[in-house]
Amino acid sequence: MNVTTHVLPDVLHAMVATIAANADEVTALDQAIGDGDHVYNLQRGLQALLQQQEELLSLEWGPCLQKIGMTLMSTVGGASGSLYGTLFLALSKALHGRNLDLPVFAEIFSVAVTAVKQRGKADIGEKTMLDVYIPVADYLNQAQHLPLATVLMDVQAVAASGVEATRDMLATKGRASFLGERSRGHIDAGAKTAQLMITALAQVLLQTSATPA
Ligand code: ADP
Ligand code: MG
Repeated sequence: MNVTTHVLPDVLHAMVATIAANADEVTALDQAIGDGDHVYNLQRGLQALLQQQEELLSLEWGPCLQKIGMTLMSTVGGASGSLYGTLFLALSKALHGRNLDLPVFAEIFSVAVTAVKQRGKADIGEKTMLDVYIPVADYLNQAQHLPLATVLMDVQAVAASGVEATRDMLATKGRASFLGERSRGHIDAGAKTAQLMITALAQVLLQTSATPA
């Protein structure tokens, strides 16, 4: 399947809806080991993207991903804002003007996750959004021979187990690291929102790919 930017409004609305539906739970997570603003930060970024959606869907993926990155960088704030910005700017750069299908997405997502690791000086096991992104990138890279619908189902399970794995981790990056051992026992808020957004994306793509063009 070759995905064009016309899928963006559905993806954005699905992400906004799932973040809203889980806002209280995620805020409670960020209050437990952070400062409680993560949902608010992310919603500010998603609302800015909603305002731009007409323009975004008139663009090819390269400039579109770049604009998304710049918007998130300038609107989200917090530690997460520069990390989302880095993710999307790296996606745009790694795409090199190609069409977006599963093998290309798997390749550029890995490159972008590596950029986020470098930007945040963090890796798997440190109780951050990377505990979702890294397993998802690894899964996509070894799943390219599978049917798209299988990949879109599996990736939701990979993201869910990534977020659950953060519960018992010791936070060594971000605000939660200030709590030391007391950070254990709580899921990371940024990992949770990463899982919610990946699940929303996968569900929209499942519906789109099931609908004959
Ligand atoms: P802040 O921590 O500045 O208030 P947010 O609340 O918006 O920013 O985002 C917090 C989330 O950012 C955390 O839950 C974690 O997932 C993620 N995070 C924080 N620091 C890093 C880092 N160095 N690398 C990757 N992710 C990080
Ligand atoms: Mg915060």
